[in-house]
Amino acid sequence: MTPKEAVYVVRRAAELQGRSNLVIAPIGVPWYYAYLASKSGLPLGVSRYFVYGCAAGRGMFYIKPDGEVWPCPFLPVSAGNAAREPASRIWNSPLFRSLRSRDSLQGACGSCRFKEVCGGCRARTYIRHDSPYAEDPLCPLSNGAEDLVRAVEAAEPTPCTAPIVIG
Ligand code: SF4
Repeated sequence: MTPKEAVYVVRRAAELQGRSNLVIAPIGVPWYYAYLASKSGLPLGVSRYFVYGCAAGRGMFYIKPDGEVWPCPFLPVSAGNAAREPASRIWNSPLFRSLRSRDSLQGACGSCRFKEVCGGCRARTYIRHDSPYAEDPLCPLSNGAEDLVRAVEAAEPTPCTAPIVIG
């Protein structure tokens, strides 16, 4: 996905959410929640009780067929092996703990006021920067924008032709 396609997904998801009672959660663009929180004017201290953005190692993990446990299916870093270690040790591994603590984030994400409701896509940062803690390269704030809502709404998005999967 390109930055312009990501803006398209965020705008389309927000538009659909405005007329749906289903909770729409686009995968891989956690700054969607930062955009909604900022646009709604809800204080971030309140928003963080409802949304937390990237779920890697926080709200999900992925167990591979060989037992290796990744924080997310797209983040190929093992925190241990479920066939040989208790789940509590893996859940409390340095990798999972550091992903749950947004204090470990770096770059634009590290200093971002939205990091508790977003946190950036940790899998994308790993693939792009070889680090699960770097800034999310698709976020307008990582690309020099000062205001997320203005950046999303002023952009000329490129329609994303990838299929939309609901599940
Ligand atoms: S800079 Fe990082 S934490 Fe802040 S909104 Fe963008 S992706 Fe999220």
